[in-house]
Amino acid sequence: MANTIYTALPTTIFTVMSGLAREMNAINLGQGFPDEPGPLAIRQAAAEAVINGNNQYPPMPGIPELREAVARHYARFQGLDLDWKSEITVTSGATEALACAFLALIEPGDEVVLFQPLYDAYLPMVRRAGGVPRLATLKPPYWRFDRAMLESVFSDRTRLVVLNNPLNPTATAFSEADLTLLAEYCVRHNAIAVCDEVWEQVVFGDTVHRPLMAFPGMRDRTVKIGSAGKMFALTGWKVGFLCASPPLTEVLAKAHQFLTFTTPPNLQTAVAWGLDNSADWFATMPGALAASRDRLARGLEREGFVVLPSQATYFLNIDLPASGVPDGDVAFSMRAVKEAGVAGIPVSAFYEADVVTSVLRLCFSKKDETLDEGVRRLAKARALYR
Ligand code: PMP
Ligand code: GLN
Repeated sequence: MANTIYTALPTTIFTVMSGLAREMNAINLGQGFPDEPGPLAIRQAAAEAVINGNNQYPPMPGIPELREAVARHYARFQGLDLDWKSEITVTSGATEALACAFLALIEPGDEVVLFQPLYDAYLPMVRRAGGVPRLATLKPPYWRFDRAMLESVFSDRTRLVVLNNPLNPTATAFSEADLTLLAEYCVRHNAIAVCDEVWEQVVFGDTVHRPLMAFPGMRDRTVKIGSAGKMFALTGWKVGFLCASPPLTEVLAKAHQFLTFTTPPNLQTAVAWGLDNSADWFATMPGALAASRDRLARGLEREGFVVLPSQATYFLNIDLPASGVPDGDVAFSMRAVKEAGVAGIPVSAFYEADVVTSVLRLCFSKKDETLDEGVRRLAKARALYR
């Protein structure tokens, strides 16, 4: 009748929670998107491109201006040497880039190493492509893997490794030592790494984003995925980048040509402009977000919540049991949105089974008053248990 991978799937937690938040008129600290509309100059560049630019099919791999700008951007920020013609493909968001990577690189029966918590799109897409997931489980408060874990999930059938760094929902960035270890395993098992680095530009303080592609032996076995939506706080834009060595790019482009074929040319033009003209934005955006993170963290701590550190992304996490919440993350998030008017995301939604049910993810890319009201309502939600 229909494909059982999809018939068995629930609606994504982000849609469920945003729907409930609308219905309950709640403060939405669930789905990750900013309150602010995003940089005006880039939106103006898009508007200009809609009115006066090309609105017919752009070139299949992306417009040259954008692919060149992506190569320059990654050279500037991450020291990578990507050839725009043979190593960069523009996709309709990182989501399409992930689908391209899984469809183009997995042969049915191949093993795919993934780390949970994982972004909820990964597993269904990997399975639909015929991959056999091998899950390593990361746990709070450090969310790290080690050699023993890698030893237990890698095998001689490992084809792909999927790494999300910085990691949504944990808000952590993997250390140099952890990435070195993972690179060692990728090389030893001749595996390709699919690196979802959509949060690469949203890192705070001393944290430096290190692309796995730059580690020894990884240059030609890594598919690096970025997202303009995350770089420019324009999450609805859905302009993504696939960066990989020429032989990988060739096959990735074949998946892209029959998934979406192209990505709206006006948005590509605006992102190309943005990448070359946003030094100020890239310099100030993380600091502004870190101030929001700190405001939410301090507010929660004043109310007696225990907050886990957040190095990156739009998110911070609450340790529920340590915060005096005597309920699992799903039950608490449901009561919080329905009875106290505040939405968060239960982190168990990012696990295949309910391995970790003690953490609630909150989005802080919001106005101060939204964050303050969110704190008040979370305190009210906890008080429901007294
Ligand atoms: N991967 C991760 C880890 C994400 O958090 C997101 C979106 N929030 C995506 C992929 C999807 O990115 P895009 O909107 O560019 O498809
Ligand atoms: N990535 C965003 C988040 O983690 C949501 C994206 C989506 O709604 N699929 O909240």
